[in-house]
Amino acid sequence: MASDAKRILLVEDEKVIRDAVQAYLEREGYWVRSVGDGQSAVEEFEKHTFDLIILDLMLPKLSGERVCRAIRDTSDVPIIMLTAKGEVEDRIIGLELGADDYLIKPFSPRELVARVRALLRRARMEPEPQVEVLDFGDLVIDISGHKVMVEGKEVDLTASEFKLLTTLARYPGRVYTRMELVEKVLGYDFEGYERTIDSHVKNLRAKLGDDPRNPKWLYTVHGVGYRFEAPEKPADRA
Ligand code: CA
Repeated sequence: MASDAKRILLVEDEKVIRDAVQAYLEREGYWVRSVGDGQSAVEEFEKHTFDLIILDLMLPKLSGERVCRAIRDTSDVPIIMLTAKGEVEDRIIGLELGADDYLIKPFSPRELVARVRALLRRARMEPEPQVEVLDFGDLVIDISGHKVMVEGKEVDLTASEFKLLTTLARYPGRVYTRMELVEKVLGYDFEGYERTIDSHVKNLRAKLGDDPRNPKWLYTVHGVGYRFEAPEKPADRA
């Protein structure tokens, strides 16, 4: 294995899932340490450096929620939460605790690896938050010039639409709840405005020519909110 392999801490109490996920990640070239309870997760995290954490929500000894809080006290390391099917509330709690993304069980290892890659890419981008131009090929966002180009043509966006797009596009792969988007885009914190975000997303999709049934950039995360994904450019591939 390459010495620059990304280091992942996998926290999952179901041994079958833990072993399968570990084997899959290792085949993909990641270095994986896995543990089966929350207490061990916190101990491992304090002893070693990791590039990403995969954290089950329901864990013995210390819940995933408390592990997430403990990690977030000292670190911005990307965290992917694993949750059981139907626990929408849990997913939202996970994101509000500071997890970056979540996966619902059962999930495909392919999907997990795609999320891991997206989050690690995002983490690489984070040391330069002052980036002025986000170039996703067909979609180019010039932040300082307040301009958006789709396939070379300028698209006219309102201030809110522009803010919404840049908020999502700065961190591809990160899921934002509607509430977070209300705060970031509209600048206020009031539940009644969550549906306003849906209207802005609808208008933004229409202007970008992004089909919600077959999205290129803006993805709906059902029951939660939205996320931005960019089709991978060849230079980004590992
Ligand atoms: Ca569990």
